[in-house]
Amino acid sequence: MAVVVVGAGIAGLACARELVDAGVPARVVERDTRVGGRLASEWLGGRWVDTGAAYLTADDPAFQGRLQSWRIDGLVRPWTDTLRGQAGPPAMRWAAPGGLRSLAEDLARGLEVTLGVPVTEVPAAGAVVLAMPGPQALAIADLPAAREQTWSPVVTAIITYARRSWTDFAGAFVNDHPVLSTVCDDGDRRGDRAPVLVAHSTAAMAECADPGPRMAGAVGELLGIGDPVSVQTRHWPYASPSPGDGWYARHGHVYLCGDAFGRPRVQTAWLSGRAVARAIIQSTDR
Ligand SMILES: Cc1cc2nc3c(=O)[nH]c(=O)nc-3n(C[C@H](O)[C@H](O)[C@H](O)COP(=O)(O)OP(=O)(O)OC[C@H]3O[C@@H](n4cnc5c(N)ncnc54)[C@H](O)[C@@H]3O)c2cc1C
Repeated sequence: MAVVVVGAGIAGLACARELVDAGVPARVVERDTRVGGRLASEWLGGRWVDTGAAYLTADDPAFQGRLQSWRIDGLVRPWTDTLRGQAGPPAMRWAAPGGLRSLAEDLARGLEVTLGVPVTEVPAAGAVVLAMPGPQALAIADLPAAREQTWSPVVTAIITYARRSWTDFAGAFVNDHPVLSTVCDDGDRRGDRAPVLVAHSTAAMAECADPGPRMAGAVGELLGIGDPVSVQTRHWPYASPSPGDGWYARHGHVYLCGDAFGRPRVQTAWLSGRAVARAIIQSTDR
């Protein structure tokens, strides 16, 4: 029987892609009307803005290969290897000219993906892959591994200015700040020089009502710039998991994967989804 993958984030799509490429029938069901999950970009003010993940990093050879393929196809480009406030050595951050969601759309090409359908119980299938944060998976199946995960929220603020008035900085970690965790120059990472900054909140700030004005004020103070023309926010209740281990969890024919199985990164989600696919391909009880 075919495999049903629930969740069209990068983990679910990497899983389905690997299965289908190996000749295993698989279909994806997603509750949103778009693929990508937290690999999110929106068309705002006549251009793409990354409203979820800020950039990609790759230290795994397989994911580096994936990035190189996307680079050849013109979907990603190296952005910057240094962010202001960075603690470690230089590490390349990759950005997508068409927004990071374009990478999910690329993975989804040719797959059977049903959008706009929230799954509420384990679908009938030979194997079921829940490719999502544990708390979301618990709405479908009471999996012990899902209960063990702990998650933090983040608010993204998309802050648009009349013109660029800051000294170029690409992006910054805002360390030990009560309101902000990062600020990125979306015009710089997109390559169009639009006067748009995208800030991510601390977990504490994400719990506050109406965080947008405080986040924009903090960004203005940090960079020494004036008021924006608009501030929009996106709330991610399950933005970032505590780092876990193993590549996925399995309970009978139900698998759980995503970025909670490693460091919380796009790379981890991609590797986790692929690892589940490989386990299913190898299993004899499919
Ligand atoms: C604000 C923010 C900033 C980040 N910055 C970075 C960064 O700079 N670099 C980096 O590498 N990572 C970053 N991340 C993390 C990165 O986005 C994630 O690691 C990765 O996108 C997770 O992919 P996933 O497929 O595991 O989960 P998700 O992207 O969350 O996908 C899960 C999917 O399942 C769907 N779903 C859930 N429940 C159901 C249901 N019942 N029925 C059907 N579908 C369902 C959801 O709609 C979603 O599409 C950031 C995340 C956030 C939120």
